[in-house]
Amino acid sequence: MQRNDPGQAYLGDKMPSRHHVMQSLLVVVAAALLLGTGQSRARPSTTYPGLEQITAADLRSYLAFIAADELQGRNTPSRGLDTAALYIASHLSRWGARPAGDEGSYFQRIALVEHRVDRDRSRVALGDRAFTYDDDFLAGGTSGQASGPLVYVGHGYMIKERGLDPYAGRDIKGKIIVAHESMPSGVRRADLKGKQGVDWDDPMSAAERLGGVGVVYLPSYRTLTSWRRKADESTYVVEKLPSEQPDDIPSITASPGLLGALFDGEEATAEEVLAGAISRKPEKPFALDAHKILSITVALTSRPARTQNVVAVVEGSDPALRQEYVALGAHYDHVGVGTGSGDIIYNGADDDGSGTVALLSMAEVFATAPRPKRSMLFTWHTGEERGLWGSDYFTRFPTVPLEQIVAQLNVDMIGRSRKPGDTHPANKHLTGPDSTYVIGSTLMSSELERLSRRVNAGLFNLSFDYKYDARGDRERFFYRSDHYNYAKHDIPVIFYFSGLHEDYHDVGDSADKIDYTKMEKIVRTIYATARAIADLPHRPAVDKALPEHTTDER
Ligand SMILES: [Zn+2]
Repeated sequence: MQRNDPGQAYLGDKMPSRHHVMQSLLVVVAAALLLGTGQSRARPSTTYPGLEQITAADLRSYLAFIAADELQGRNTPSRGLDTAALYIASHLSRWGARPAGDEGSYFQRIALVEHRVDRDRSRVALGDRAFTYDDDFLAGGTSGQASGPLVYVGHGYMIKERGLDPYAGRDIKGKIIVAHESMPSGVRRADLKGKQGVDWDDPMSAAERLGGVGVVYLPSYRTLTSWRRKADESTYVVEKLPSEQPDDIPSITASPGLLGALFDGEEATAEEVLAGAISRKPEKPFALDAHKILSITVALTSRPARTQNVVAVVEGSDPALRQEYVALGAHYDHVGVGTGSGDIIYNGADDDGSGTVALLSMAEVFATAPRPKRSMLFTWHTGEERGLWGSDYFTRFPTVPLEQIVAQLNVDMIGRSRKPGDTHPANKHLTGPDSTYVIGSTLMSSELERLSRRVNAGLFNLSFDYKYDARGDRERFFYRSDHYNYAKHDIPVIFYFSGLHEDYHDVGDSADKIDYTKMEKIVRTIYATARAIADLPHRPAVDKALPEHTTDER
């Protein structure tokens, strides 16, 4: 309902003079203009019911919890992450969203196996010299024993297209290879095209393929600086994910001390091969003195662990179309805590606390406002930071039929904006207060792309930046968040992302640095887009095959 004519109050009781009439009229006109704009801002959206209920204030208060120090960086798995899951579930329950996890709960349980290195039973020996875990080497991967002479293979990567093959003309059978931990300088994941083992290979898989019996990694700079943390860390695998299967042969990472013993009297010194590993520029491959026999024993103890996706459905209003779902996703995990003193908690306010609370706000409004025709599926994915675990798991073991999901909108890092005059190089590609990257929408469904543009144009007209859809995107963002696993199943996706910044995966990614005004606009835009998809008479057609640059395996 419109306001009762507010201008009347400004006209006095007395007969006004001509001068006063003019003045009063100006006041009335000005007041009407002010109130007019105020009115249009406050008028509830009829196109997108509930839109105004998504507010910067709510997003801020949800994020104050999700990104709190008490949640200890929400590592997968951890008590902090489980606490975040409970927080989300308790809100969903209060709003009446339907649980869509296992057995009538909001949680889709994911069984993990935790591996810890058995420090006493893991040993390395060179001749009669013994080396100990932590002081001299790190281990992981798989339990096993290996013994044999050594071959130094530099970075250890075979990449046909680049003419890289450190194994050419070398006998690897029965040998332990010594290789870099990181990829060769100037090579990125995107350059590993085609079939692994034929067109390219990494050191572990190459050693297995060529009959090698073990791998000694030369530490990267990163490993050297986090040695103690790595020595104490458990590793986890998802029991039911094939990508998580253990290596066939054991591997260790050698300390500079152990390298000194291995490369004593060789063609290249320990200093040289270590410097090569740190700069990612190796020495020429060579076989070490055949009389040096290295023995490796890696013993891992295993025990069960678990984590969970949080899943809810808000039923659609149309008896037929409610069988279909518009999926909204974010990841509620982050990377945990570091070591040392000072601030060591990785709060992950933007990554992906922002997406987590965006979904919470949208779930609240969808559950309480008039429903769209299709059902809405909300999935808070776990383990994204460990390798898209939650979305990989959900799309392999979906709790609603996957073919009934008509689109997936992924929200990962929408909370930061670049301030005018910011010259920090790490913020170079961060979007401004009225802008965001939109990824994937131009790659699969023309109809979804048009809808997304149209909804945005009719709302805040944010500047949508599509540059990461371009061929040859070196950042490979299309693979780097959960929507990728949905796209692999031919579900058209839109990924909303505001860009990397100076606090990305750092302890500085905290709630006080979020631009909540921007977030409100983006979340409202996503909400309106999801609603528009949910009310379409037919599902958005997938009319484009993903270009080759996006379909390479990770
Ligand atoms: Zn991240």
